[in-house]
Amino acid sequence: MREYGFELRLCARLEAGGIPGIGDAGVVSRQLGTSVHAAGGRIVDTVCVLPGPEFDARTELASDTIPPAVLDADVPVGEYERVTRVFDGPPERARSLAERGADTGFLDVTRRGGQQVVRQTTRYPDWVGGLVGVENKPDLGRPGDLAFQTRHDASLGVLDYAVVATESHVTRAHLNRLPDAVGVWRVDFERENPIEVVRAPEQLDSAGPGLEVLAEHTARTEVRPVTADAKARQRRRVAERAYGKGWRTFDFPACANASTGDGDATVPHCAHFERVVDPASECGPDCPGFEAADAPDADLDAERERRTPWRSDAGGRRRQSGLDQF
Ligand code: SF4
Repeated sequence: MREYGFELRLCARLEAGGIPGIGDAGVVSRQLGTSVHAAGGRIVDTVCVLPGPEFDARTELASDTIPPAVLDADVPVGEYERVTRVFDGPPERARSLAERGADTGFLDVTRRGGQQVVRQTTRYPDWVGGLVGVENKPDLGRPGDLAFQTRHDASLGVLDYAVVATESHVTRAHLNRLPDAVGVWRVDFERENPIEVVRAPEQLDSAGPGLEVLAEHTARTEVRPVTADAKARQRRRVAERAYGKGWRTFDFPACANASTGDGDATVPHCAHFERVVDPASECGPDCPGFEAADAPDADLDAERERRTPWRSDAGGRRRQSGLDQF
């Protein structure tokens, strides 16, 4: 199976059935950056956020990602403060951040005495119980950067658990090439219980400092230390992006061969290729099977609401598409 279809089906499975040996997946998302120093350096295929003690409060707060720079600032709860005192940088940046925070429903922005002022509508909840990252490698015979990726995850510890998911038969040699803390799942979607735990992941030290692996050369490895505070900020950023983004990030192509699939979860299926396709990279008039037609009907936000605690109108605001893109 191609990696894209494998990834979507695994996301659907984790959302419905939880994470084997670990617990419920409060949020399932895809393609999130976890690097602290190398911005965009390590993109994890699937990220699950385990529910923390105040998970319900997060579901009521906002449907979208709350901008990281808003959470990093010291915005008061209850009392208003001038926007330019709360956010660093030029006034335009401060106003823009305040408005973006207000768009999510987390900030309340108004004018007092001729000044734009801001406050949090409520305290930010303690909602993240842990982060589980899954690297999807359906075919271990084509591992790509798997060894580097797993060393990065295990050494940095932004994730609490790191796992490799594959359809391949897993040998002792495969396991030996991965850090001991990294778990391995063998996945077969034809089975009633598709995920077999070949090796359970060990819990990583997500609370302490870490080492980010930046590059590996023949004779040396480039690493950079990461403080516990920087990791905590990155963990919150990853969790927020996961919350706003989810995993249903595809649009359906306007093609007669496209359908929503025949499984439990809606996925972009193609009758021409008889598999799940990635509409962003595979669909369009250049595709040999393309036949212009209306795109299939699908309400992906409604499906997410039905299947998870996420609410599209949290905070009294409808979801703002694209807000999780920054
Ligand atoms: S554009 Fe091509 S890949 Fe996409 S649904 Fe149509 S036939 Fe399939």
